[in-house]
Amino acid sequence: MNTSIPANPIRPTIPLDRPGKHHGFLKLPYSRNDSAWGAVMIPLTVIVNGTGPTALLTGANHGDEYEGPVALQALAHDLQPEDIAGRVIIVPYMNFPAFRAGTRVSPLDSVNLNRAFPGAPDGSVTQKIAHYFQGVLVPMADLVVDFHSGGKTLDFLPFACAHYLDDAGQQAACVAAAQAFNAPYTLMLREIDAVGMYDTAVEQQGKVFVTTELGGGGSLTARSARIARRGLRNVLIHAGILAGTVEGGDSVMLDMPDDDCYHVAPAAGLYEPMVDLGETVAPGDPLARIWAADRSGAAPDIIRAQRGGVLAARHFPGLIQIGDCLAVVAVTGG
Ligand code: CA
Repeated sequence: MNTSIPANPIRPTIPLDRPGKHHGFLKLPYSRNDSAWGAVMIPLTVIVNGTGPTALLTGANHGDEYEGPVALQALAHDLQPEDIAGRVIIVPYMNFPAFRAGTRVSPLDSVNLNRAFPGAPDGSVTQKIAHYFQGVLVPMADLVVDFHSGGKTLDFLPFACAHYLDDAGQQAACVAAAQAFNAPYTLMLREIDAVGMYDTAVEQQGKVFVTTELGGGGSLTARSARIARRGLRNVLIHAGILAGTVEGGDSVMLDMPDDDCYHVAPAAGLYEPMVDLGETVAPGDPLARIWAADRSGAAPDIIRAQRGGVLAARHFPGLIQIGDCLAVVAVTGG
């Protein structure tokens, strides 16, 4: 053993491999002013029965996204060992401190968990969480589902997605699982900023990975919650862990072929959307106006579509900053 590399300090309070259904925590020691020998307690449910694949299921990687946490709480409550073949590891609030604060990044260290991989065993709280998933939980998994939504600053068409990968076989398996989720849309995603992402860490370990964007704005809807719950069940059926048949209608395939899909705000100001999610635009069509936030009478900036397609994501708050992601236009088909 290389003693120069410290071990990750996180310990599960329940066994990760014992048959049955167990609820506990990932206990992360966190010494601080209000609790000298305290810990961050990340809720965890593990269900094991017979032989079969292992699914690792996470929500609140970003703390202000709620469809995943709802679907995973419901699964942790409802699912019984006799329902499955294999193992289900459920972490509804992956970045628990961020979830409790209702913020994207952790209030403890200002680290974005989804840019913290591979993490560090002697780093900050969020870096330790990343390192534990990287080195302990992900290696146990055959299938990883990580739920996202837009959080407080973005809103999305509801989709499950797979990434473009170098390994064609792995990519095909990820696409099949994302299609099985059967959200209203299924997207082939080109990441804008893939370094340090959980997605990248999981895919580099050769796993089947499904992620989602199911809504946003810092809340959820009855529809988006239903899509999350049904999709989770569908993916577990697809993996052979749960019996049954995949439910839902025909998912519309979307693709993001290049960086022209992303539209960035060229100025700060008052944001006026001119297209809603799911609407179709042609190249050059106006997507939004940005009005001056500090004077009246000035002409707005008009942001035009760099390509034709469907509006798949948009900035959510009424105010916008220069450099914010204003809109994402995806292409149907693919
Ligand atoms: Ca997110």
